[in-house]
Amino acid sequence: MAKTVCEICGAPMPGEWTEYPAYPFCTKRCKLIDLGRWLSEDYKIPDAAPPRDASTPGDAADPASAGSS
Ligand SMILES: [Zn+2]
Repeated sequence: MAKTVCEICGAPMPGEWTEYPAYPFCTKRCKLIDLGRWLSEDYKIPDAAPPRDASTPGDAADPASAGSS
């Protein structure tokens, strides 16, 4: 089994996960911190971000047709 560390503070968590009531966090304190981050939306899901396409049509005006009216 891979070595487990607390996702919040990075503390090593040796032994069985059943030894940690707040698993996957080392303590309830870290679990609360994680919960607080969720509630404050500190957690950003990368896939949730809108894709920024540099070649978006309409973003760049055509210089040839600008001011030709
Ligand atoms: Zn921790």
